[in-house]
Amino acid sequence: MSYSGKAVIFSAPSGSGKTTIVRHLLKVIPGLEFSISACTRDKRGRTEQDGKDYYFLSVDEFKQKIDNGEFIEWEEVYPGNYYGTLKSEIARIWQAGKAVIFDVDVKGGVNLKNYFKEKALAVFVKVPSLEVLAERLRARGTEDEESLSERLYKAQFELQFEDRFDATIVNDDLQKALQEAEKLVREFLNK
Ligand code: ADP
Ligand code: 5GP
Repeated sequence: MSYSGKAVIFSAPSGSGKTTIVRHLLKVIPGLEFSISACTRDKRGRTEQDGKDYYFLSVDEFKQKIDNGEFIEWEEVYPGNYYGTLKSEIARIWQAGKAVIFDVDVKGGVNLKNYFKEKALAVFVKVPSLEVLAERLRARGTEDEESLSERLYKAQFELQFEDRFDATIVNDDLQKALQEAEKLVREFLNK
């Protein structure tokens, strides 16, 4: 079965669990392929690989691609750190007969939903409270205090955009959230 032409978008404030959910979906649903974004932030130690987690570019390389019209959407997510979706990624995945799945911040998710419209299922992931979000970001251990407070500040703004999405998952109990995500995506792909 070909899922070419379909897109699944998972967006959430940083730390809400969208990457955990998207990784699970990629394991259990073979018709999905991850859209690898381009970004200009530094690679996280040994856990990330160029061309797998992101295409890691310099700011100059990134700006050149903006000028060439190579992005569907791009954003300066944090000051000096650019992220974006390359048109070539979507073409590559649809040519392989797969649906593309995105793991992007909320503004990026809204932009992608506006671009793909009914071709996309856009899912908003949230946690029960900002306190829980802070705990999870601390426990992940990837942010210093400055980056953590930037992310929490941004989260309060992002939570206002939930109604632009087709569905919301509250990621409290992880197993339940994974099941819910799987059900939504399978229904959308088989429609
Ligand atoms: P995001 O991609 O939205 O930034 P992550 O998937 O990296 O979020 O999740 C943030 C952290 O919270 C990770 O350390 C992850 O293992 C953990 N996590 C995800 N879901 C849950 C959950 N339901 N309960 C507790 N911890 C969770
Ligand atoms: P991180 O640095 O934690 O990997 O990602 C920072 C934020 O940028 C996350 O919220 C992530 O989802 C978002 N992001 C990743 N790729 C893209 C993209 O292609 N476009 C946009 N707009 N945001 C992205």
